[in-house]
Amino acid sequence: MKNNLQNQLRQQDAHALAQGYSRAIRLMDIGSIAIFFALELALAYLLWGNPHVGPWLLLSAILLGYLAADFVSGFVHWMADTWGSTTMPVLGKAFVRPFREHHVDQKAITRHDFIETNGNNCAISIPVGIATLVMPHSSPAWVFLAAFLGSMIFWVMATNQFHKWSHLDTPGPVVSFLQRVHLILPPAHHGIHHTAPFHKYYCITVGWLNKPLTMIRFFPALERLVTWTTGMLPRQDDIGTEAAKAVLKSTDAEASVVQAAKALLESTEKPEQIAPGALPR
Ligand SMILES: [Zn+2]
Ligand SMILES: [Zn+2]
Repeated sequence: MKNNLQNQLRQQDAHALAQGYSRAIRLMDIGSIAIFFALELALAYLLWGNPHVGPWLLLSAILLGYLAADFVSGFVHWMADTWGSTTMPVLGKAFVRPFREHHVDQKAITRHDFIETNGNNCAISIPVGIATLVMPHSSPAWVFLAAFLGSMIFWVMATNQFHKWSHLDTPGPVVSFLQRVHLILPPAHHGIHHTAPFHKYYCITVGWLNKPLTMIRFFPALERLVTWTTGMLPRQDDIGTEAAKAVLKSTDAEASVVQAAKALLESTEKPEQIAPGALPR
């Protein structure tokens, strides 16, 4: 089934996809990064000395922001992997292309510089950054919301950096340590997404939400909903019509309860089986 599916994959030409990084997109990336950091600095300046800011508020905002960023990374990645095409105006070149290119050539991301790696995520974070500045900072709840959103977009910005590091052959000692203790996205964990047909483990900030979202079949359920309302076939542009239909069929074949039970079984470690003859005497 798996080999068959791989044969059916209509993988797009990596070189053609890489050529899509035009000068206009590069300039947009540079502008987005500059505006993003200016907004984050302005928020830090505004919150500095605010009487409602305390260590617990900040710590919980930072941690919840990290979880939220992991979810956002999964959601945006799922959208770009599953729907649309590289030929769509504006969004096609700027957002869909990098995801398509990444499935064809995993290592391309390791050749992207800081600007190409982080431009997109800074761009999508700008409206949220502006919101954190214009909202009132007059009560603990508002201050928490501003700090939470400010933290979330910081981790959203860091997502592609963590993702890029997970594809490096030899990351530095600090990065490698953070990956080992799973404080940022570990390479083996992310490798699960890179198995055709690329239809699970979308979260790429830290990946803490991948297992829970798989267990509740979050993305397959959303795909059913989108297909039901729009008639679109998930992953049609990425892996081709035949493969996309095959994936749907294979996931439809099992009831969701069976899938959830399987995910649960996979997540618990199996005790080692000892053959009767091998028992110590
Ligand atoms: Zn993907
Ligand atoms: Zn990847």
